[in-house]
Amino acid sequence: MANRYFQPEQETMPLEDIQKLQSEKLVKQVKHVYDNVKYYRDLMDAKGVKPEDIHGIEDLHKLPFIKKDDLREAYPYGLLATDLSDCVRIHSTSGTTGKRVVAFYTQHDVDMWEECCARAIVAAGGDENDVCQVAYGYGLFTGGAGLHGGSHKVGCLTLPMSSGNTDRQIQFMMDLNATILCCTPSYAAYIGETLKEKGLKPEDNKLKAGIFGAEPWTEEMRHDIEKSLGIKAYDIYGLTELSGPGVSFECQEQKGMHINEDHFIAEIINPETGEVLPVGEKGELVFTSLDKEAFPLLRYRTRDICVLSREKCSCGRTFIRMTKPLGRSDDMMIIRGVNVFPSQIETVLLNCGYTPNYQIIVDRVNNTDTFDINVEMKEEDFSDIPVGITNREKELQNAMKAMLGINPKIHLVAPKSIARSEGKAVRVIDKRKRLGINV
Ligand code: ADP
Ligand code: ZN
Repeated sequence: MANRYFQPEQETMPLEDIQKLQSEKLVKQVKHVYDNVKYYRDLMDAKGVKPEDIHGIEDLHKLPFIKKDDLREAYPYGLLATDLSDCVRIHSTSGTTGKRVVAFYTQHDVDMWEECCARAIVAAGGDENDVCQVAYGYGLFTGGAGLHGGSHKVGCLTLPMSSGNTDRQIQFMMDLNATILCCTPSYAAYIGETLKEKGLKPEDNKLKAGIFGAEPWTEEMRHDIEKSLGIKAYDIYGLTELSGPGVSFECQEQKGMHINEDHFIAEIINPETGEVLPVGEKGELVFTSLDKEAFPLLRYRTRDICVLSREKCSCGRTFIRMTKPLGRSDDMMIIRGVNVFPSQIETVLLNCGYTPNYQIIVDRVNNTDTFDINVEMKEEDFSDIPVGITNREKELQNAMKAMLGINPKIHLVAPKSIARSEGKAVRVIDKRKRLGINV
């Protein structure tokens, strides 16, 4: 199949041209921010840097970082860089890690964002003949609106389902011959599970691709979803602060997500020291927007941990690629002094033949961390024989110990006893927070 792009000129631009374009846009974006946002002006003044000091991307490091806490402090209008009358939309983060942040969009900002999502849909094989079922939540959350707009721009027939009402999702998917499904991976897994319960086989639907993101998911989960829906599953990444989904997206190659570098500059830093790391090293992803009008961000620290790669991609896109964020730096739990990511637990579960339905519960009792994982059994493995269950728990515990270096207590629970998610899944309940412990 020939490579197709939504915007070939940008998506296949030679690296030198990308960097030249980024430099030109950066100079303008910095001036826009400095002139129009007092919060930024103060941050830059405090660091002793003026817009005149920024001549191109080589000067990026001179700019101060901005963090989610700044966004919370400046809530709601403190970082707005245009008149409110120029804005046409507001969205808000999901609030996964605390108070929600709001972002503003001019029409230009919405168009740019939707084009990024359109690139992702085309990269997943989408065109005007497709029926694109958008099962991300609509509303303040950016998932629904982003993919909806992208689907329109590609010219797909758009099915604006929003999340939830899984029976209706499936009915419309089947009756209206949806070919592309967009939702969170945890919801895709749930739709797959429900299809099976209804006695529908993967080949009974017309889906060919899924565009799943907004939360971390493992390769193992990708294979599970691909099998249950009979599709190729593509990853898409983004955050409300920068626009929403579509900051980066996977191509057919599926070796990382191409970052839309004509709109965003990506850096990787050491999260402890703020030092910029060379491409190829693992660290915190930092983004600078290049042509946002209402809510521009310079050197925004995402807290997402990943690795960048400039390796040539067979799809012909020249944009740098990022690995899946394996979790946020603030997703990482420190349990009995050991760093643990939910994604590691998910990998073990799926490798051991369990479903991605689990919940991690951490607490502290008598000054010692407790670490429990509730794991759902598959219908076919479920039995009432306690001995069988205990043996399986022990097996899983050993597999976890090998991966994590510490021993969780495993509880195998009945099928369907863990609540399903229609949006972002809640995997961790950290009860230590009630003790005021900074986890
Ligand atoms: P919140 O930060 O409140 O969840 P958003 O809904 O804007 O707000 O979510 C953005 C965050 O979601 C990203 O910073 C990242 O942690 C996570 N995310 C988005 N897409 C992906 C993805 N494809 N893989 C892993 N994490 C993702
Ligand atoms: Zn590619």
